[in-house]
Amino acid sequence: MQASQTKKEHKGAMRAVDIIINKRDGAELSKEEIEFFVEGYTDGSIPDYQASAWAMAVLLNGMNDRETTDLTLAMAHSGDILDLSGVVPLAVDKHSTGGVGDKVTFVVLALASACGLAVGKMSGRGLGFSGGTLDKIESIPGYRVDLSLDEFKAQLQTHGIVLTGQSAQFAPADGKLYALRDVTGTVPSLPLIAASVMSKKIAAGAQAIVLDVKTGVGAFMETLDDARKLAHIMVNIGKISNRQVVALISDMNQPLGSAVGNALELREAVETLQGKGPADFHEHCIVVASHMVRLGQKVHTMAEARKLVVDALESGRALEKFRTLVEAQGGDVSYVDNMEKLPKAALVETVCAERAGSVCNLNAREVGETAVELGAGRAKKGDLIDHAVGIMIHVKVGDVVAVGDPLFTVHANAPAKLARARDRLVQAYTFSDESCARLPLFYDTIGAVD
Ligand code: URA
Repeated sequence: MQASQTKKEHKGAMRAVDIIINKRDGAELSKEEIEFFVEGYTDGSIPDYQASAWAMAVLLNGMNDRETTDLTLAMAHSGDILDLSGVVPLAVDKHSTGGVGDKVTFVVLALASACGLAVGKMSGRGLGFSGGTLDKIESIPGYRVDLSLDEFKAQLQTHGIVLTGQSAQFAPADGKLYALRDVTGTVPSLPLIAASVMSKKIAAGAQAIVLDVKTGVGAFMETLDDARKLAHIMVNIGKISNRQVVALISDMNQPLGSAVGNALELREAVETLQGKGPADFHEHCIVVASHMVRLGQKVHTMAEARKLVVDALESGRALEKFRTLVEAQGGDVSYVDNMEKLPKAALVETVCAERAGSVCNLNAREVGETAVELGAGRAKKGDLIDHAVGIMIHVKVGDVVAVGDPLFTVHANAPAKLARARDRLVQAYTFSDESCARLPLFYDTIGAVD
């Protein structure tokens, strides 16, 4: 009683500017300072400009594991923490640290749910050059991403699948900070990413969580070493919070699959559920979903998990689950059944190879930034998204092309943007006369149970 009284008095004397200065000067922030900052930003007493300065100081000077854990827990407790223990026997969740062409959530949620798991997920919007799951699913008219806590629980119990966004109710500190980081150059910070991801995961109440930690030029953690550090801290925060967490480290040097852009990606995800997806994306989804099924205690080995997942896909049950999800959240399911109805760009142009050779590099960040410039992402907070625009990639690293083979197709809504995208994307490719190896899908698994 006395200790918490002292803490409150201590917090009462704090000023946001001093906490910013402390972090700017490389000091370690105390738990109380972190809580003060998170609470103040959430309730509006700390304005955006101070939060921006603080986020930049964190990006530049980092946080140790104790600070990162305190930040995560403060952000998780900025709103309600869902307790799903009385709702479903075991809730499973997954989250990606953000990449280009990453539409994995749509497929793996449906796969895992079709295997009998209860899968409830809170997703985010586009962040920097990486696309956002909520922006993508909103290509379907009517789809609600603002479920209340009661709606979340009821849908999880009835349908075993939920895909919503965070609201003022769940991890609101992350909701505000996420949008701020997107437009202040403060996304690629290990502690900010760890806290953002894990605060949402803790608030959403899942007991088992699979993390897809991206690494490469199209990821926020460019090196494998940084990606491993991020994975380890998130797995540890999960342990502290009594959650089982497995982190997969996956490649993000080139876009995942073929589609980059909101409606294009949604379409590719549905095609994958129909068994017609690109090979790399299909395999990536099977692996992530197998980890979810293994962690969800449906089976004893990864081989058994994979068998269940493949069956859920091939039987069409996963596609049916996706339709159920869209319908349950108010989306017009005719857009899933007839994807020609999805938003379409006015200008569609395919660019072909002017030289023969092997594809050695396809810079995922260039592709992601080009998609944002086309209108698929935001330049500033509150910008509207163009769901129709984006890029279809036809050849990837390790492919061999002849002169005239299609490289990519741009979907644009303005001639100047189309021209600029064409130029940027041509530069994003590197060719060689020597053969180039394909990139791996995964590099490592941290916290595995098998
Ligand atoms: N995904 C999140 O939820 N937060 C980040 O900071 C990055 C990816």
